[in-house]
Amino acid sequence: MKVTEHIEAAQNKTLFSFEIVPPQKGKNIQELYDNIDPLMEFNPPFIDVTTSREEFVYLEKDGLYDRKVTRTRPGTVGICAAIKHKYKVDTVPHVLCGGFTKEETEYMLVDCQYLGIQNVMALRGDAMKHQRYFEATNGGHTYAYELVEQIRNMCQGKYLHETLENSNTDDFCIGVAGYPEKHLEAPSLEFDLKKLKQKIDAGADYIVTQMFFNNSKYFEFVEKARQAGITVPIIPGIKPIAVKKHLQLLPQVFKIDLPEDLISAVDACKNNKEVRQVGVEWCIAQSKELKEAGVPVLHYYSMGKSDNIKNIAQALF
Ligand code: FAD
Repeated sequence: MKVTEHIEAAQNKTLFSFEIVPPQKGKNIQELYDNIDPLMEFNPPFIDVTTSREEFVYLEKDGLYDRKVTRTRPGTVGICAAIKHKYKVDTVPHVLCGGFTKEETEYMLVDCQYLGIQNVMALRGDAMKHQRYFEATNGGHTYAYELVEQIRNMCQGKYLHETLENSNTDDFCIGVAGYPEKHLEAPSLEFDLKKLKQKIDAGADYIVTQMFFNNSKYFEFVEKARQAGITVPIIPGIKPIAVKKHLQLLPQVFKIDLPEDLISAVDACKNNKEVRQVGVEWCIAQSKELKEAGVPVLHYYSMGKSDNIKNIAQALF
């Protein structure tokens, strides 16, 4: 089923879902299952699986360094298929502009169709570590809205290099990213909202937000998005703080604000076990308010560990 169909079928009841990250190359998928298992009692209708773009590694040989390209966490579509069939749940592979040519994207989408995967999340991806700004991959897209266009075209039988009449192409349900505190590169929230609207106009069906720790940022964002003519569901993505380092890391990486009360509570913790508890309590309070406000789904960034998400879900679902 499509994400939007799950939302409709829930008839205003808030659903629970989460995002997982593929294991590092060489690790066993069992570790992933061990983290998904405890969350299945909360009946997630869909699970997102992230995609990592390529990175450079430098291999030393005879005093010289050779630069090679690698992907440390491949396997998104394979994991989606494995989870879909093991747990009988819908899965949402993330599809990126960065690191993929349009042809590679087309083949990935064809794989999804064969596997019965009906949802995809269309994202630009970030710059590579050595780059100051995002640069389009040779033969790839520059912005996520172009990726949405490619997916929508394909759904109508318009493949990159040919149009296939009567093609047996299913219609994908497409999610895109939204940023309550604006995307880090956007000059203003208004600018960013215009670009978000462009993704919806290109054919996206729903939005999942970047994490936020102050619900008023989400509520204001939804209001502004509605004023901008965006009518699709806006799913809040949230994450419990888990380690003290997040106080510096999250604002730095995602350009988001942390509320003063949360900062003080985390700062007062003696160890990361206490931080995890503070993070869970904050996230429960956030989730309760969002649920009362009638959000369609509460979508959690699990970052591969499920114990804290389970504690949160137990308090809500
Ligand atoms: P876009 O929508 O293309 O926007 C990128 C920037 O360009 C914005 O500043 C926007 O304002 C601007 N812009 C957009 N269109 C135009 C235009 N036409 N002209 C000028 N400017 C424009 N990253 C991963 O690598 N893997 C993942 O699995 C992943 N999952 C994510 C899931 C969610 C829910 C979210 C919120 C983010 C995720 N990301 C992931 C991170 C994401 O790739 C980055 O935030 C990336 O920097 C932006 O992606 P986007 O799809 O929002 O880009």
